[in-house]
Amino acid sequence: MSKIQMTTPLVEMDGDEMTRVLWKMIKEELLLPFIDLKTEYYDLGLKHRDETDDQVTIDAAEATKKYKVAVKCATITPNQARMEEYSLKNMYKSPNGTIRALLDGTVFRTPIVVKGIEPCVRNWKKPITLARHAYGDVYKNTEMFIDKPGKVELVYTGEDGTEKRELVHQFQGKGVVGGMHNLETSIESFARSCFNYALSLKQDVWFGAKDTISKTYDGYFKKVFEEVYENEYKEKFQEAGITYFYSLIDDIVARVMKAEGGFIWACKNYDGDVMSDMVSSAFGSLAMMTSVLVSPKGYFEYEAAHGTVQRHYYRHLKGEETSTNSVATIFAWSGALRKRGELDGNQELMSFADKLEKATLSVIESGKMTKDLALITTLENPVVLNSQEFIGEIRKALEA
Ligand code: NAP
Ligand code: MG
Repeated sequence: MSKIQMTTPLVEMDGDEMTRVLWKMIKEELLLPFIDLKTEYYDLGLKHRDETDDQVTIDAAEATKKYKVAVKCATITPNQARMEEYSLKNMYKSPNGTIRALLDGTVFRTPIVVKGIEPCVRNWKKPITLARHAYGDVYKNTEMFIDKPGKVELVYTGEDGTEKRELVHQFQGKGVVGGMHNLETSIESFARSCFNYALSLKQDVWFGAKDTISKTYDGYFKKVFEEVYENEYKEKFQEAGITYFYSLIDDIVARVMKAEGGFIWACKNYDGDVMSDMVSSAFGSLAMMTSVLVSPKGYFEYEAAHGTVQRHYYRHLKGEETSTNSVATIFAWSGALRKRGELDGNQELMSFADKLEKATLSVIESGKMTKDLALITTLENPVVLNSQEFIGEIRKALEA
């Protein structure tokens, strides 16, 4: 059998712990036998990040700007315990944070829907993709505790000395106060990322905010989205047969619960934080959730939504068997390969991505799965496979 050829490399970002182990298995069993895989490899494993003073993360992000498509393995974000474990020179920032800052993107998370793993919400038939704005609001809050009566004001001082003032509250006793902000540029890129991603998936965009109460702040989000849509996307949406829909966040939440799925739900930062946990747990498992960073300039970086599965890795190091779910990592690869194929006009590569996903899901649907899924499946008498066996079954299905 001749292997599928690639014309442009993918940016490959290797990572840490159990997901690094899965990464190697996936490449050896599911990719290299079928594709003449071209990647530009960056080792974002913590040891190599430390050796390069984290320059490798920056280089990987820059390479993503060059080649436009990247696939990333889960990585450790160091904390004090990791500093000691790896004798690190520095407590490096989260690689995802560094990459996001360089590519200026929005993260889209989509559950992987498969027969046998049923969402708690009965009418959800298709995945709901959650797009979370990742800048500002309560995450860049300046807060103050008020311990005695007094006046709190918002004061803006322009560079030319002009001043604007608004009374926040005349406190009669103790209380709390917070000041938040957001930026036109950031909201615009958020809107563009959502609209671009919607075009690539051919799905509608729903966006909800609280503009009835927060007329200036949330009202501005609504206005920016509307303007970006009207000026840059309306025609493209009409051609693609999709729509943009804004409503009050309360109304959106109510509609989401009754919908059948198959759309992109754009959320402000806090709403996205909370609602993505609700959507992902209602769909079943973090190990069945893909994540893609889409930049407004059209760069795509695919990964799994979960971490490096540390506990399983320590068992693996002791020589014990693990049953770690590789589905989200496989789908990170298939997502990246499909996008690569799309950008390069490589039909064979795109259809391989489809087949890889189908093969993966068919194994689960046949009742063979990893332990995390066996615990929640509606299929009777599931067969629990270890990490290697599960990937082996996918290989068989792919070959068939
Ligand atoms: P985690 O790796 O997501 O794992 C938490 C728990 O969830 C696991 O112990 C396991 O439960 C279950 N789980 C997650 N993924 C699974 C899979 N594929 N198959 C089976 N079970 C799975 O989160 P964490 O342990 O909090 O974080 C570990 C490291 O990952 C940290 O250093 C963190 O910085 C990093 N992290 C990286 C990313 C990223 O790169 N995008 C994201 C989040 C966290 P059981 O042990 O009960 O089986
Ligand atoms: Mg959260």
